[in-house]
Amino acid sequence: MDFTAKRVLVTAGANGIGLAIANKFRELGAAVFVTDIDPDAVEKARVNGLLAAVSDVSDEDQVRGLMNTVREEMGGLDVLVNNAGIAGPTGPLESLDAAAWKATFDVNIHGQFFCIKQALPLLREGTGASIVNLSSAAGRLGMAGRSAYSASKWAVVGLTKTLAIELGPDGIRVNAICPGAVNGPRIDAVIAAKARMLGLPADEVSALYNNQSSLGRLIEAEDIANMAVFVASDMARNVNGQALAVDGNTEKLY
Ligand code: NAD
Repeated sequence: MDFTAKRVLVTAGANGIGLAIANKFRELGAAVFVTDIDPDAVEKARVNGLLAAVSDVSDEDQVRGLMNTVREEMGGLDVLVNNAGIAGPTGPLESLDAAAWKATFDVNIHGQFFCIKQALPLLREGTGASIVNLSSAAGRLGMAGRSAYSASKWAVVGLTKTLAIELGPDGIRVNAICPGAVNGPRIDAVIAAKARMLGLPADEVSALYNNQSSLGRLIEAEDIANMAVFVASDMARNVNGQALAVDGNTEKLY
């Protein structure tokens, strides 16, 4: 895979899975721009050689400004990776706070809407552009106690499948990646919240999460990065409108 001369934007790309995706594209020759709400992480990404800017995907004005910066700094855009997504609240539905529910949708699905809408003029200028949206195993299965997150990630799949039809005639492919539980600080926080909800010790819930996958282990950020570069590459030129699981085969979520 060769991304020389390709320009890539990764949202929430200064930490976690997004940073792994950004670094993988860079290894393969792309010019890579990351955006994040965490100014320290953005500064660190810049020091490490990525193009980077602070912006919040849930604010359309900021996203519009971001795309202007992307145009100024990279001259255009070939691949948009909509990676930004928050875990949202944990608990039975009747315990959930409306503001936390709405915030989950603001980032996880409205953020993808704003980024795609504002990036499309740039993506249409090139040939063979690609959009990669981060969904989740929770966008394929139900997940008790995580209704806001799961509903928002199912919405990502609906958006992906619809846009694949709308944009296919223009040669723009749209796919989603559905990671299983990924090793890292975020899943540790999700496990801790789930343990509190169930009244179980965190290590017991952690074992449940490890064994969600038929392979009995967590997914690594690099596994998601590998799928992102594959699906954005010409090797996947006829892969469109798919929700691609990278979850070791997960059939039930805890
Ligand atoms: P994370 O919680 O580690 O966050 C990564 C970055 O997102 C942080 O740097 C944070 O500052 C940034 N961010 C948060 N809100 C933002 C906003 N409004 N605008 C811009 N940046 C923002 O996330 P992660 O674990 O790396 O997950 C990345 C994506 O993968 C998300 O969409 C997530 O839902 C999805 N996912 C993660 C897992 C997992 O187990 N970690 C599993 C399935 C799917």
